[in-house]
Amino acid sequence: MVIKDLARWAHEVKGAVLGPEDERFGNAGKPWNLTVPQRPGAVVVAADVDDVVATVRFAAEQGIQVAPQGTGHGAIDSTDGAILLRTGGLNEISVDPARRRARVGAGARWRDLQEACTPHGLSGLATNVPSAGVTGYTLGGGLGLLARRHGLAAHGLVSAELVTGDGELLRVDAEHHADLWWALRGGGTPPGVVTELEIELAEAPELFAGDLIWPADAAVDLFGAYRSWSSTLPEELTTAIGVHQFPPLPSVPEPIRGQRAVTLTVCFLGTADAARRLLQPMLEVAQPMLDSTRPRTPDDLDLAGVPADGAPVVIRTEILGDLPESALAAVTDLGPQGSPLSVVEFRRLGGALARPADAPAALDRIEGEYFLESVGLIFRPEDVAVLAEEQGRVLAALEPAATGRTLRTFAGAEDRAVDRFFAPDVAARLGGIARRYDPGAVVHDPLDLRSVGADRPA
Ligand SMILES: Cc1cc2nc3c(=O)[nH]c(=O)nc-3n(C[C@H](O)[C@H](O)[C@H](O)COP(=O)(O)OP(=O)(O)OC[C@H]3O[C@@H](n4cnc5c(N)ncnc54)[C@H](O)[C@@H]3O)c2cc1C
Repeated sequence: MVIKDLARWAHEVKGAVLGPEDERFGNAGKPWNLTVPQRPGAVVVAADVDDVVATVRFAAEQGIQVAPQGTGHGAIDSTDGAILLRTGGLNEISVDPARRRARVGAGARWRDLQEACTPHGLSGLATNVPSAGVTGYTLGGGLGLLARRHGLAAHGLVSAELVTGDGELLRVDAEHHADLWWALRGGGTPPGVVTELEIELAEAPELFAGDLIWPADAAVDLFGAYRSWSSTLPEELTTAIGVHQFPPLPSVPEPIRGQRAVTLTVCFLGTADAARRLLQPMLEVAQPMLDSTRPRTPDDLDLAGVPADGAPVVIRTEILGDLPESALAAVTDLGPQGSPLSVVEFRRLGGALARPADAPAALDRIEGEYFLESVGLIFRPEDVAVLAEEQGRVLAALEPAATGRTLRTFAGAEDRAVDRFFAPDVAARLGGIARRYDPGAVVHDPLDLRSVGADRPA
C-alpha cells in the first residue's frame, strides 16, 4: 500500500522517514524476532518526541495506523500498511539515586539502563536479555531476574509520557489519567505511543548470579530435586531450570558445545557466601560440568547469551500450577537430535509475584507456581512444523498443570488470544480505555484489545 503524501510530510520529521523504495527500508523495518515478517507501509525512525507527535497526527489524517516498536523482541504481526514507528533514538536515561528512580526514553534497552544504574548500586527489574527494550517489557508485565523479591517490572512504573491516538502528549501517573496509568502497568500495548517511562529501581549493592550446568542425562533427577528445593528458597533468590541445546559455536565452552545440558540459572540479592549455602542441595544431586555463578554487578546479567541483533525464535509459554513429577521425562526431552526445539525452561514463581501490586495495575499478580518457556529456532522452512509438534508435545505433557494463562510480554504470532493474558473484566476495562484514548484506532495493537466489550455502552 502506498502512503499518500509521505514524501511531502517527511520534511516535518527530524529523524528518518523511509518508504519501501528507500534502500534502508528493509533493515529499518526488521524486528529482532526474525520469524515475524513485518510489511509496514513506511518506517519512521523518530529522533525526538516531536517526531512521535507528528507521526501520530499524520497517520490519523491519512486514516492509517502507527505501530510503535523499540526493538522488535516482542514483534507479533506484519503491521501491514501501517507506519512502523521505531523509537530507538529516544534512548535518554537519567538516574535519580536518592529517589531510586530512573527516567527512561521509550527506545532504551536494558543494557543501557543497567549500565546507568550500576555505579549507584541500583538495578532495574531487568530481564537476562540486555538487548530487549525497557518499554515493551515493562508495559507487558516484565518477569525478570529480581522478580521473586521485587515483583513485576510493570509494578515499578511510576509515570509515563504518552502521545494518544489524537496526537496529544499526556503525562500519566496515579493522579493524572489514572485509568490509563492502570492500563500501562501490565496491560500490554497502550492506546498511544509512550515516549518516556519513569520507573522504580531496586537496591542491588550485592548480587550473585550465573548458571550451573550439568550433563543432560541428569535431567530428571535435577528437575525432581528442583521442584522441592525451589519451594524452600527466600525471595531474594530467583531461579529457573531448563534443558538447553547449545550451538556448535567456538564461543561456547567445549564441554557443552553442540551438546544438550541442564542449566540452573540463579540471581541472588545478597552475598556470595549466603548464595552458595542456598545452592548446596542442588550441587549434591550431581556434579556440575560448568559454573558461571559469581558476584556480579547489575550490568553483568547477560545470562541467556541471546544474540543482540536478532534471531528466528518461536517462544511458547504457560503459567503452571505445578511441575508434575509425571511430566518430567517428557519435558526434559528436546526431541530427536537436530530438533529445532532449543530450550525448555521453568522459572519458579511465588514471592512478590504472587502478592497483589501495591497500587492498581492491569496485571495485578501471577497466580501459579512455575512459568514454562519453550524456545525454538527456525532456520529452515521444514523446522516450522517440527517445532510446532515438539512444543505441542511439551505443552500437552504439562496440560494437567496448565492455568490457561501466560504473560503479555510473551504474546507471539502463535499465542495472541486476549483471554490467554487477561481475565474478562480486565480485558473489558482495557478495551474501554483503548476506545477512550484512541477513538480512531490510530495506534496498532496486535491483540486488538479495543474490540473487547465494544458492543457495550461506554
Ligand atoms: C529471547 C527473549 C527473551 C525474553 N525474556 C523475557 C523475560 O525474561 N521476561 C519477560 O517478561 N519477557 C521476556 N521476553 C519478552 C519481552 O519482554 C517482550 O518481547 C518485550 O516486548 C520486549 O520489549 P521491547 O520494547 O524490546 O519490544 P518491542 O518488540 O519493541 O515492543 C513490543 C510491543 O510493545 C509495545 N511498545 C513498544 N514500545 C512502545 C511504545 N513506545 N509505545 C507504545 N507501545 C510500545 C508495542 O505493542 C510493541 O509491539 C523475552 C523475549 C525474547 C525474544
